[in-house]
Amino acid sequence: KPRLRIDYAALLNEEQLRAVEAGEGPALVIAGAGTGKTRTLTFRVARLLERGIPPEGVLLLTFTNKAAREMTRRVEELAGGFVDVRRILGGTFHHAAHALLRQFAPTLGFATSFTVLDREDARDLMASCVSERKISRERRFPRAEVVLDMVSTAINLQKPLAEVLVDRRPQFLPLAEEVLAVGQRFQQRKQQMNLMDFDDLLLHLKRLLAEHPAVRAQLVERFQCVLVDEYQDTNRLQGDLVDLLVGERKNLTVVGDDCQSIYSFRGADFTNIIDFPQRYPGCGVYPLTRNYRSTPQILALANASIALNQRQFHKQLTASRQPGVPPVVVPTRDTDEQATFVAQRILELREEGLPLEEMAVLYRAHSHSLELQIELTRRGIPFRVRSGVRFFEQAHIKDVLAHLRLVHNPGDELAFKRVVKLVSGVGQATAEALWTALGALPEAASLKDALRHPDVSAQVPRRASAGFARFAALMTRLTREDAARTPGQLIEDVLRGGYGEYLRDEFGADGRREEDIRQLAEYAGRFEDLPRFLSEIALISEFSAEEAVETEAPDEFLTLSTVHQAKGLEWGAVFVIWLAEGRFPMVNAARDEAEEEEERRLFYVAVTRAKDELALTYPLTTNPQDGTRIIVRQSRFIEELPVGEEAPYDRLILEELETPELPRLEGGKAPKPGPDALD
Ligand code: ATP
Ligand code: MG
Repeated sequence: KPRLRIDYAALLNEEQLRAVEAGEGPALVIAGAGTGKTRTLTFRVARLLERGIPPEGVLLLTFTNKAAREMTRRVEELAGGFVDVRRILGGTFHHAAHALLRQFAPTLGFATSFTVLDREDARDLMASCVSERKISRERRFPRAEVVLDMVSTAINLQKPLAEVLVDRRPQFLPLAEEVLAVGQRFQQRKQQMNLMDFDDLLLHLKRLLAEHPAVRAQLVERFQCVLVDEYQDTNRLQGDLVDLLVGERKNLTVVGDDCQSIYSFRGADFTNIIDFPQRYPGCGVYPLTRNYRSTPQILALANASIALNQRQFHKQLTASRQPGVPPVVVPTRDTDEQATFVAQRILELREEGLPLEEMAVLYRAHSHSLELQIELTRRGIPFRVRSGVRFFEQAHIKDVLAHLRLVHNPGDELAFKRVVKLVSGVGQATAEALWTALGALPEAASLKDALRHPDVSAQVPRRASAGFARFAALMTRLTREDAARTPGQLIEDVLRGGYGEYLRDEFGADGRREEDIRQLAEYAGRFEDLPRFLSEIALISEFSAEEAVETEAPDEFLTLSTVHQAKGLEWGAVFVIWLAEGRFPMVNAARDEAEEEEERRLFYVAVTRAKDELALTYPLTTNPQDGTRIIVRQSRFIEELPVGEEAPYDRLILEELETPELPRLEGGKAPKPGPDALD
């Protein structure tokens, strides 16, 4: 039998050690950021293996597969010498559910060869279920994405679809009967075709456990220990799954931090972690209080911020590292200067010997990184955008750019087809027929005349005729020669001339895509003429397409990430950009207290990713494309921090950036004015 082979006491503190050595039964580690929760969980797995638990008896659930790989790699280092660590079942809930369902699919009436549908496929299937019902267009049935979203919410919150409809999309209540029927049909067709989407993986696993006691008994027997990281972000369904899997033995270790619960929009509910002691009476509670990640100054800023949240479990959190440089708040003149500052500072840090892997730029929404992506590209700084399509590869950005390409070059077949297919009722076949008809017209016809030519309009199906007329009108407006218009104005025209409405119909009113497009318009505003703008964009897109196909990992790259995607990770230097009201916190979050607190938790997650250096930046103005300047307000998350001598940051005032000579950040020596000196 293996004996203690790992020097736990040398690698863990006493609090961590207690959690690692906890005996059988439920255990809860609830502790602040960077206190070694993930590390403790990793060592606990190693310790369990050392105590003789077989690796296939361990179920390790984490938030991302990357995190799971990282942890198993660590366990391998610790325990690989005496057990086969690969036999641990570790990964996301979806990953684990998939593995188990492969084994038990027949019990649920699926073949073991079932296929998993990705989000796109699921949407197509839903669209087909909607069109099957032949609901007349006038009745404005919700888009396939919207129905899919409701079905997904219902599953994850474990609520009936009807309830989700009432709570979240009451505008579709008149169509309730059809929506429910479509939802049912969707589930039925997947079963018939032997398909499961992501939500089904969890849903079917729950059914398997709840409705098949023999299977459940077998799995409970197998998983002698269940461990869950980032437990604060589990939703109802995931909480239930864990409860079902641990059985009466209740050998369950969960770790998390209620202050880092940031997925409530996906149904995560941090009462899962707060109420854990009630659901698992007699559970051991193991606080960890020493932060090993960040300098005391970074931690002080994080603590001062999160202290303002009412709803939280009180925890102690003290720094264990030596002081370093204080965090800096950096207002920049505009978004360009923000990008320049970040890029420049990154290059300086690299000069000082910090590799790009040790740096990250975090933001609330991908669109906030647009200028920066351009700046980094221009300076040849390699970067990776964590899970997320690059800005210019998003469908709505491509749609808008296709309009502009078509204005610039009426012979751009791809652009034409892309744009015309946005018209409701125009599919691939019609788009082809239209293109052929256009090609047969005499050369001289301008696009706006060509679109009205009888040979062309003959190709438009009746149900699309109104939409097609709007499209023709928009193209007329865009190609009008009377006013010399800038690319930025053209983009605004596209948005106002029907595309904005299209987005609202397709995706509902969240406005995220419109915000992206406004951002694009703002960027385009600095270009006088269309061809120059389009070629600039083409170069950037080409660059990123190249990078996307690259198979070998580049030697070194910087990380760009939303705060959501950065959870659990850490870097030597972290930049949080766009810390402005309306961006971070996001517009609608400013209203409701619960949402404000969730945004503050996001801010807490963002700043606690930093080990040594933290810079918080925001532009003082933005330039919408009409030549005006809009004054930006600094984020309440900076505003509400103590000021003066007590301020947990230094305010850095940049020199005017007229020359290519770029700003230098001078550690703690920056002046320290009150927060409103610059607003
Ligand atoms: P988060 O809340 O962000 O998920 P966490 O609580 O999971 O953070 P870890 O990521 O496990 O914290 O640890 C943070 C950092 O501190 C890591 O670099 C880890 O290696 C280091 N660390 C944790 N505990 C110790 C320790 N006892 N000795 C040395 N380093 C430690
Ligand atoms: Mg962690």
